[in-house]
Amino acid sequence: FCDLDDFKTVNDTLGHALGDELLSIITKRMSAVIRDGDTLARLGGDEFAILLEDADLDKATAVAERMLSVISYEVKLSDRTIFPSMSIGIAPAAEGITTDELLRNADLAMYSSKRSGKGRSTVFQDRMHSKASEFLSLQSDLRNALENDELRLHYQATVDLGTGAVEGVEALLRWVHPVLGDVTPDRFIPVAEATGLIVPIGRWVIGEACRAGVELQDANNGEPLLMHVNLSPQQLRDPTIVSIVKEALEQSGLAPELLVLEVTEGVLLDNEVAVERLHELHALGVLMAIDDFGTGYTSINYLQGLPVQILKIDRSFISGDALDPSQRNAFLSAIVGLAKNLNLRSVAEGIEEESQLTRLKELGCDAGQGFLWTAATTLSVARDTIMKINAEGELEHAIQVIEGHAEYVRLTI
Ligand code: C2E
Ligand code: CA
Ligand code: CA
Repeated sequence: FCDLDDFKTVNDTLGHALGDELLSIITKRMSAVIRDGDTLARLGGDEFAILLEDADLDKATAVAERMLSVISYEVKLSDRTIFPSMSIGIAPAAEGITTDELLRNADLAMYSSKRSGKGRSTVFQDRMHSKASEFLSLQSDLRNALENDELRLHYQATVDLGTGAVEGVEALLRWVHPVLGDVTPDRFIPVAEATGLIVPIGRWVIGEACRAGVELQDANNGEPLLMHVNLSPQQLRDPTIVSIVKEALEQSGLAPELLVLEVTEGVLLDNEVAVERLHELHALGVLMAIDDFGTGYTSINYLQGLPVQILKIDRSFISGDALDPSQRNAFLSAIVGLAKNLNLRSVAEGIEEESQLTRLKELGCDAGQGFLWTAATTLSVARDTIMKINAEGELEHAIQVIEGHAEYVRLTI
């Protein structure tokens, strides 16, 4: 089972005519690899199946490897050069297995290739079934989740490190599954993305978050409060996203400059459609943030050309143990410095301990978010939390001012 990688991007950026041309070039290359007696079929879209008769897994793997290498030579389409790649799944036809089962197994193996980085082949294993069946059942349940009112937004405060006051909140999606209970976004967002359900779900999130943004402002003494909303790559590709955001702003009355849309850096790299969409969204007056910054490959040059105002520094640079502490510190100060030089507001994610906060303040990081202040909570709890954090921030600030005066008095005496 073979599936072209990122074919949708080719279609979206170069148009369907050139997409078709690419498909026909790939098909020619594929036919050159198989032998007489083997069967090559196009199952639809950018999916192909190859039936190898009288082959064992070693031979099938060798064919797959050759296929991957042959199709990867450059293709010139209009003024672009493309290096095609595909993900392949291999399944053996054991005694008694039906054609449908065989194709399904190969398809599951192909998905495993996609998930582990694309451009490779994987041999089917039984355990792929259980992972896939969790995925499938979440998928069918998720279809009803919106209608059945099972989705909720929780809100987590972001705090200005200079004043200690709340400057905004991030809307984080929760799914209260009727049987499984709380399902975390890490489990269901990939399902929503893979099925395209993220688009209607995302529309609901944006509308709901904008309404909450207006409501939360009075908890913040009527002071403006930023509302951060996460956008998936698919949402950014969807051309209606601009009107969805515009409508949500109009219906809620939230000032555009109080809405922050967060996208991960990977989405933007080499993706003109996504970058253009970013410009369109920014033209509505909303702010744009790069989420999980530091985990992708964004170059400084590249960052400069983007309509982005905020960098959210990935949690792995603050807490967590993915990096050793000295490395972490070096990266952290480099990233905060980078944000400063580019005139971007830096927001550190995942602050859990006072020592991390102190370090970030020393580096001059602008804002932070994390369990040190609060986890994400329901709207009504978030109201109270915002007031509490603000009160503590004021007290802290007052103490600092008094201490500063005391120091001044001591010095002048
Ligand atoms: P994210 O955008 O990086 O969101 C921050 C995540 O870090 C949240 O996890 C939050 O609960 C968690 N977090 C906050 N402070 C701390 C801390 O001090 N320590 C630790 N260990 N974790 C902290 P959550 O809510 O599970 O969300 C996970 C991811 O799911 C989000 O990562 C985001 O990528 C995605 N997501 C959540 N809601 C939405 C949504 O509405 N739309 C889309 N497209 N993605 C969403
Ligand atoms: Ca985020
Ligand atoms: Ca993040």
